Amino acid sequence: TASPAPGTETDPSRLLRQIFGFDGFRPGQEEIVEAVTAGRNTLAIMPTGGGKSLCFQLPALCREGVTVVISPLIALMRDQVRGLREAGVAAGALTSGNTDEETAEVFAALDAGALKLLYMAPERLAAAGAVNMLRRIGVSLIAVDEAHCVSQWGHDFRPDYLRIGELRRDLNVPLAAFTATADEETRAEIVTRLFDGEQPQSFLRGFDRPNIHLAFTAKDQPRRQILDFAAARKGRSGIVYCGTRAKTEGLARALEEAGHSAAAYHGGMEPDQRRMVEARFQSEDGLIVVATVAFGMGVDKPDIRWVAHADLPKSIEAYYQEIGRAGRDGAPAETLTLYGPDDIRLRRSQIDESLAPPERRMADHGRLNALLGLAEALGCRRQKLLGYFGEDSTPCGYCDHCDRPPETFDGTQAVRMALSAILRTGEYFGSGHLIDILLGTETDKVRARGHEALPTFGVGQEWDRRQWQAIFRQMMGLDLVRPDRERHGALRMTDSARPVLRDEEKVTLRRDTLTRSRDRRPAVK
Ligand code: ADP
Ligand code: ZN
Repeated sequence: TASPAPGTETDPSRLLRQIFGFDGFRPGQEEIVEAVTAGRNTLAIMPTGGGKSLCFQLPALCREGVTVVISPLIALMRDQVRGLREAGVAAGALTSGNTDEETAEVFAALDAGALKLLYMAPERLAAAGAVNMLRRIGVSLIAVDEAHCVSQWGHDFRPDYLRIGELRRDLNVPLAAFTATADEETRAEIVTRLFDGEQPQSFLRGFDRPNIHLAFTAKDQPRRQILDFAAARKGRSGIVYCGTRAKTEGLARALEEAGHSAAAYHGGMEPDQRRMVEARFQSEDGLIVVATVAFGMGVDKPDIRWVAHADLPKSIEAYYQEIGRAGRDGAPAETLTLYGPDDIRLRRSQIDESLAPPERRMADHGRLNALLGLAEALGCRRQKLLGYFGEDSTPCGYCDHCDRPPETFDGTQAVRMALSAILRTGEYFGSGHLIDILLGTETDKVRARGHEALPTFGVGQEWDRRQWQAIFRQMMGLDLVRPDRERHGALRMTDSARPVLRDEEKVTLRRDTLTRSRDRRPAVK
């Protein structure tokens, strides 16, 4: 076998970023990718939308030779092939939907040894010479999507799936089977028919990590909040994730001054230094590592007792992966994620300024929105988190909201006042100025623009400045408004705010973040 060409990337976490554009693995993916890449027979059961395809696509890139992907869904195969090609991966499909040209192209690529992934409809396995062809091209892995189709008693039975077991025996290569729906009987049937009854490594675990306590808090005095959280867990190993490298060093110092043992860790450090911190973290009890996302991919410490986010992560996937480093031993672990309007702005502009194609940027905004929705959630955090990954559940009893349900109020009126201030000033200002208008504060900027004459001027005195900041933050979290990066954070209304403005929809807001501050600026009437 040929060794990978120089510069060929085979590190899964880096490929995840470079090829697929994801910040982290989704629940379960990492373990499956590891097992499949290592060439073990695997059976993975993941909910729809959980991200199965990555679990064979990524190993296919890490392994030598061709990965054959068998799927009954032609449209889906074509989509995946297109996506992979756009990302620069050599992939092709042999399905009944192909034109002759496409088929010829696939065969040419196979003959040239230039294909990494070959998608095939199961019917193709029945075609004369198919198995010989597969024998010839150096298949090193078979991936079977919708593996439950092999079950003769199921609704989706595909007779051609019965050929797959034979193909595996014939080629003598590992097989990875995936499905979203497999009761115990179907599972047993998959094992019998695809693996000749030999138990594959199975991944049936749901996404839930019930021993991890989930909590979010709006940023108030972020450094103080992190120090308090750490102080209550003194002597226990933890990770604090920060948005920037500079912040990791400052916070590590502050933690040391507070009597903890702490170390900074980020991508700008020398590899030697980084390895030293990793080694200390593995061996020392109670070390706190203050890190950027660069920390954790290779860390396998089962007894990390807590994870805190000093800044909002990039996406709900990144969040899940980062908190998921805590409590691998199954013992209780705690997490705290801080978030504020600056984080939201920062994450949005990072997405907007990335060089990714528009669809990917839109998906990134969606994944950020999902995280913001979780941060601003009114009910059980876990239920919401698992729901996002496709799993139904009941309130967990082990998150901040289950501990103490947030007090809510009908915020429709406040939101409409804010939207009206935004619209009447041409969607041209940030929250500071808008709050001045709502409070009726006659600043120079207000006077210069003549905004004291607006009907909205001073209508919002029921709330103080801090409360308005919380309202605006929640509005951003609910994606009712978004900062416009062309206009330095000027807030624009989104389409989802229209029904609120028209009084067709109500907005429920959290009250607990709205405590009136003592040092409120006097409002001018
Ligand atoms: P299914 O499990 O239903 O086959 P897919 O593989 O189609 O799911 O993935 C569902 C969606 O999740 C896709 O839009 C995919 O881009 C996205 N996705 C998969 N893995 C990740 C990840 N690690 N981070 C972010 N998004 C992901
Ligand atoms: Zn809960």
